[in-house]
Amino acid sequence: MDFLHDQLEDLKRHGLYRSLKDVEGPTGTSVIIDGRKALQFASNDYLGLANHPRLKAAAGEAVERYGAGSGSSRLVCGNLDLNRQLEEKVAQLKKKDAALLYSTGYMANLGVITALAGEGDLVISDEFNHASIIDACRLSRAQVMVYPHKRMDSLEQLLADAGGFKRRLIVTDGIFSMDGDMAPLPELVTLAEQYACMLMVDDAHATGVLGPNGGGTGDHFGLAEKIDIAMGTFGKALGGFGAFVAGSRDLREFLINRSRPFIFTTGLPPSVIASAVAALELVDEEPELRARLRDNANRLRQGIMQLGFTVPGGETQIIPILLGDASLTMEMAALLLEEGVFIQGIRPPSVPQGTSRLRITVSAAHTRGELAFALEALQKVGRKVGLI
Ligand code: PMP
Repeated sequence: MDFLHDQLEDLKRHGLYRSLKDVEGPTGTSVIIDGRKALQFASNDYLGLANHPRLKAAAGEAVERYGAGSGSSRLVCGNLDLNRQLEEKVAQLKKKDAALLYSTGYMANLGVITALAGEGDLVISDEFNHASIIDACRLSRAQVMVYPHKRMDSLEQLLADAGGFKRRLIVTDGIFSMDGDMAPLPELVTLAEQYACMLMVDDAHATGVLGPNGGGTGDHFGLAEKIDIAMGTFGKALGGFGAFVAGSRDLREFLINRSRPFIFTTGLPPSVIASAVAALELVDEEPELRARLRDNANRLRQGIMQLGFTVPGGETQIIPILLGDASLTMEMAALLLEEGVFIQGIRPPSVPQGTSRLRITVSAAHTRGELAFALEALQKVGRKVGLI
């Protein structure tokens, strides 16, 4: 198996080698990473809920009451009543009749797309959609067409030319995970209606964040009812773990019967479900968390642009600094860590060749002082590498 070593060496030569960093202690705005204390600007814990006392208490109580695990898949005997409580809350947030929980967002995307689309069907996907959507498309055996990022004219052309399919599904990220921009939902809704397509939105990064109720991209645009399949996760702004799909009652029932990543996996543990319920309660009770996140994101984005970095257009809590070169990206990430700021470098295959970047994520929990500290570090490192 010499190829393992050879390929790893090859990844290292191209600046594409990945390794795990050890994180000590709870997720928060500061972190001990590989033994070094740093400010955290890489986490998806956008509302600062991962270490929130309400989530921790809910998880603890659920463990006391139900134990550590669910014991089996939900269709066998792992369907704890907590599932229904969380699914009802999710359906309400997403303005849908029903919802179904999945173990992860990755599995939700696999589970929905492979259940809804197969041979003779068409899936049309934005080129920057998450890896789990890309994998789901491949696994579905449907014909897959990819349109250039957010290019609605290209999408319309594809739709106009794509006859002869049984079912057609348009799928998009709500907030694009590596670029931080939003899907053009109003145009997508119009095209989906015009061409009789199902519309699926992956709101992993928008759930709890966007919209007056934190309902996500649909809530932001006032179009929640127009999304046929509203997917989201509990592992990012909601501070926990797991995922869901919200839609019609028929969709839920269909998925229970036909979605293999739902059927053939153990039900979520009670602690995970209970902490997600607590997170949704907080999203409902504390809209100021979203306001603070928006304010922090705007401040940091503007500060970074004023320093002279290239930041592609975007409006959310995910702020990419586009660098292009993978090795430079990792060098900057390492220098930033030396300055006490943890920012993740993102390289292919997470992003297209030549578009490596620093991906900065903001939390509602960051203080003004912490934002200023990050900006100072970015300025110092940007100058050191001759970028600004
Ligand atoms: N969709 C998007 C857009 C994501 O960013 C992610 C997580 N990186 C997922 C799906 C997968 O979610 P999970 O981490 O729960 O598997």
